[in-house]
Amino acid sequence: SAVFNLKDATKEEIQTFLNSFDTVLTDCDGVLWIDNNAIPGSPETMNQFRKLGKKIFYVTNNSTKIRSDFAIKAQELGFIASADEILSTAYLVAHYLKGIGFTKKVYMIGSNGIGEELKAVGIRYIGVGPDHVCSDFKSMKPSELDSEVGAVVVGFDEHVSYPKFMKAASYLDSEDCLFIATNTDERFPKGGSIVVPGTGTLVKAVETCSQRKALVLGKPHAYVRKFLESCGLDPARTLMIGDRCNTDIELGVRCGFQTLLVLSGVTSERDLEKIRTEKKPPLPDVVLPKLGDLMALFPS
Ligand code: PLP
Ligand code: CA
Repeated sequence: SAVFNLKDATKEEIQTFLNSFDTVLTDCDGVLWIDNNAIPGSPETMNQFRKLGKKIFYVTNNSTKIRSDFAIKAQELGFIASADEILSTAYLVAHYLKGIGFTKKVYMIGSNGIGEELKAVGIRYIGVGPDHVCSDFKSMKPSELDSEVGAVVVGFDEHVSYPKFMKAASYLDSEDCLFIATNTDERFPKGGSIVVPGTGTLVKAVETCSQRKALVLGKPHAYVRKFLESCGLDPARTLMIGDRCNTDIELGVRCGFQTLLVLSGVTSERDLEKIRTEKKPPLPDVVLPKLGDLMALFPS
């Protein structure tokens, strides 16, 4: 069945849609902004939801920033936002490890964003930043491994390298070392002809060399789902907005939320056609070219 485009809705249908939810969960990159540029109309639309009394959460798989930095970025781009409305994967890593009473060290393929969230809950970590130059990798010695490491965390890491994969796999060779990943996005939106490999690329690499499967915390996986379910939302009256069917919309469908896909990020009209044919991942309830298109549809 075709996905209903909200642009084709009557005034009454828009009013019914707007009345049908009181919580809005939104993806960030691809829905609200791309890189450091707001997508036109997105700030006004989110702020209008807030004006209508909707509760708002920003749910991002991006692991490179702490929650307060996401709030600052959102504010600078024109969104009303506070740190406690941000649910990001760096925060989820810290929340998870704290929740299980983890007291050892984390070896990280990742960024300072995860590091700062870990520090905030008193968990020690190593691995941020460049490691050996790759031509040195054969000289790596067992003494370079830290015996206090009890978990490997894989998130986005612009300094990812062969030596880092060696260390991660070596730690994970011990069965009691935990293996956690922030997210498995294949690509990040960029536009133009440049493809930006996503964190899923790094997770697959570490899964391959460690011969293990990571526990993935971000959208659409079980941990973020349970987290959201513990927030006391009414699923039937919650709207999930996203630009990807296999993360955002899949999470929304698994949680029983209403779902809105926008075509301003990763998923194109052509991808949507393919998903429709293959019946996988789940289709959204409704679609819009971009979130800001709602501005013209809000009742005046
Ligand atoms: N992780 C990183 C490192 C990113 O740069 C991005 C998007 O730019 C994402 C994840 C995806 O974030 P979101 O879930 O907000 O689309
Ligand atoms: Ca996105």
